[in-house]
Amino acid sequence: MAPNRVGLRSRSRFPPFLRRWSGACPRRSFENTRDSPPDGHRGVGNLHDVDTLDLAIDLLSNRTRILVFTGAGISTESGIPDFRGPDGVWKRVDPREFTLDNWVTNGEFRKRSWKRRFSADANAFAPNAAHEAVAALWKTGRMIGCITQNIDGLHQAAGLPGEAVSELHGNSRGIVCWGDQHRADLDEVRARWEAGERDPRCAECGSILKSTTVLFGESLPIAAVATAQQWADTADAVLAVGSTLSVYPAADFPLQVAARGEPFVIINQGKTDHDGFATLKIEGRAGEALPSLVGGLCG
Ligand SMILES: [Zn+2]
Repeated sequence: MAPNRVGLRSRSRFPPFLRRWSGACPRRSFENTRDSPPDGHRGVGNLHDVDTLDLAIDLLSNRTRILVFTGAGISTESGIPDFRGPDGVWKRVDPREFTLDNWVTNGEFRKRSWKRRFSADANAFAPNAAHEAVAALWKTGRMIGCITQNIDGLHQAAGLPGEAVSELHGNSRGIVCWGDQHRADLDEVRARWEAGERDPRCAECGSILKSTTVLFGESLPIAAVATAQQWADTADAVLAVGSTLSVYPAADFPLQVAARGEPFVIINQGKTDHDGFATLKIEGRAGEALPSLVGGLCG
């Protein structure tokens, strides 16, 4: 069955906080929210401030079902630009262009997108110390899973098993047709593009093709949402890394854990929408702060 076509929606109808996933598949959207500081809020600390790291280790040291939530900021040290930072992608391109509706109706947009995709070296990016720290935390048995907004696959490349990752916004490994959801092989489509097919079509039904990354206005992958919800329901702490926590419904998952009174630690360079709601915000680079924190937990 062909998926429904969905137009641009710049703000979510999803309530920002404590709204549980009801079984309908939420769609990717933008939204900014503001919440009240929780009881036990410890404020914002610089990674290099005395006691900041010790406090984070203390908050998480006796937790065995830590939910890790990651955004683009964990991959910037691998050379992948984030979206909302000073040099972010959205400073150069208009996010409103990256909608499912535009993909389906705008052939020029698809051609530009395939060119951007296939002109890049697929193997140019490698996991950094932050990805490796997440994989190390998993190996200690203290982590329930990793919900990521990223499509780059670097968590798995760092050694995190696929079943420990919920890719809420899809991934760039797959290609699917719009007409009947036929799967296409990435290398085969790349070869056709390199041979001159600038807007490649499904070999089986002739429909337009699309990466398995999630565009704005597109439903999130059902299995990834279900897994994320299960983890959010049972986590006993949440560690958000490299996300401004401003895109919903993704940002709702760490907030659900925090709303139960569990420790909520944020590591990010720059403000997030929920610094005031975190138990502790660590201002610092993911590639420095996360290995330090995981090293402290394992030590
Ligand atoms: Zn097809």
